[in-house]
Amino acid sequence: MEIGDTKENIVIVGGGICGLATALALHRKGIRSVVLERSNTLRATGAAIIVHPNGWRALDQLGVASHLRETAIPILSGQFHSLNNDELKEMPVGKEELRCLRRTDLVDILANSLPRNTLHLGCEVLSIKLDPITSSPVLQLQGGRLLNAKIVIGCDGVNSAISNMMGVKAEKIFTISVIRGFTSYPNGHELGSQFRLTKKNDTQVGQLPMTKNLVYWFITRKYTCQDSMASKSQKLIRNLAVDSVEGFPTGIIEMAKNCELDSLHLTEYLRYHAPWDILRRRFREGTVTLAGDAMHAMGPFLAQGGSACLEDAIVLARCLARTTQIHRNARGTKMQVEEAFDEYLKERKMRVLRLSLQMYLIGKMLDASSQFVKFICIILLAVLFSDSHGHTRYDCGSL
Ligand SMILES: Cc1cc2nc3c(=O)[nH]c(=O)nc-3n(C[C@H](O)[C@H](O)[C@H](O)COP(=O)(O)OP(=O)(O)OC[C@H]3O[C@@H](n4cnc5c(N)ncnc54)[C@H](O)[C@@H]3O)c2cc1C
Repeated sequence: MEIGDTKENIVIVGGGICGLATALALHRKGIRSVVLERSNTLRATGAAIIVHPNGWRALDQLGVASHLRETAIPILSGQFHSLNNDELKEMPVGKEELRCLRRTDLVDILANSLPRNTLHLGCEVLSIKLDPITSSPVLQLQGGRLLNAKIVIGCDGVNSAISNMMGVKAEKIFTISVIRGFTSYPNGHELGSQFRLTKKNDTQVGQLPMTKNLVYWFITRKYTCQDSMASKSQKLIRNLAVDSVEGFPTGIIEMAKNCELDSLHLTEYLRYHAPWDILRRRFREGTVTLAGDAMHAMGPFLAQGGSACLEDAIVLARCLARTTQIHRNARGTKMQVEEAFDEYLKERKMRVLRLSLQMYLIGKMLDASSQFVKFICIILLAVLFSDSHGHTRYDCGSL
């Protein structure tokens, strides 16, 4: 099918991790969909992604985990170093599988596992409306074309056009910026299989081994107006990274200086959906629903946004297949599809609410200038999330 046609059964808007995983999960259940991605190439900004055990369980269900395991070594231990008081302590990483994947490896395998003609690049959705008579979704594509769909799944990220239609916006912001990138070590790095986090005042540097010769790193720090300037050029981002780690151990300074320029990415501030918005929103309008960051952008402090996308994909495909029995042609009635989406949202809501609340409290603790607010966040985290790794044991179940 060309997206010159005017009708489609299931349309997924956005070909990021969530859109591709959702299309693949549906495909594994024998359900055909199309993915509309506005970029002309698959996007994998941000160098790498940390995947916790819950994410690996979802990747196993999608049938792509074993291939991805070959691309990244497992992370077996963690170390936290505070430069303020020279405190060095072990940082628990959990007993189960933790690895860091190249984003390109992840999106490529998801995309390559899809049937031909599923993914349509260079196809931007400008807006969506429900037909006043049939209540079916009608998408307006760039170039003025209209596409009628039976089902629309908005996986179009934090600035989602589909969630706009539902009045769901990621309006909150943490004034924290993040620089991410890779550094190659032709003679091998010294991390072994250890995740290292080094902190000095408001700046944190994370280092994760990907292979014996490649390290993924991130620097989080308070947003400054320098960041907006720096985001315009890879060299400026590198300079900012080097400036940010002044006073850090030599290994970290060298890592920033010798980074792979192309891999660098600067996120100027972090946009998220507030937990209370996730609690009160419906996330469905007729046969249109949301998944991934479009529904629950939550900041990177637990490194769970991507894994939550994979979980969404599994649960959504399972609910749609079970409730509607719409194999291949989406022949379920409108009511069956709505029921399936309600079941999906019921299952996902409490999970993403807990994740986003934990992430919100960590973000507030890092972002707030008031010591009192920081203290309250620490208390709430200790009371509500005493098992700080509990989120990684979640199992989204079988496809
Ligand atoms: C600094 C940082 C570090 C992170 N680290 C981790 C980590 O280590 N582990 C982890 O699990 N998560 C991490 N995350 C979160 C994770 O990156 C996101 O949760 C995840 O990428 C969201 O995927 P998505 O597919 O929902 O959205 P996106 O990745 O934003 O994809 C949306 C896609 O939709 C397309 N699109 C947008 N609008 C339209 C339109 N109108 N028409 C057509 N296409 C459209 C976009 O081009 C894009 O390709 C991090 C996030 C940040 C900011």
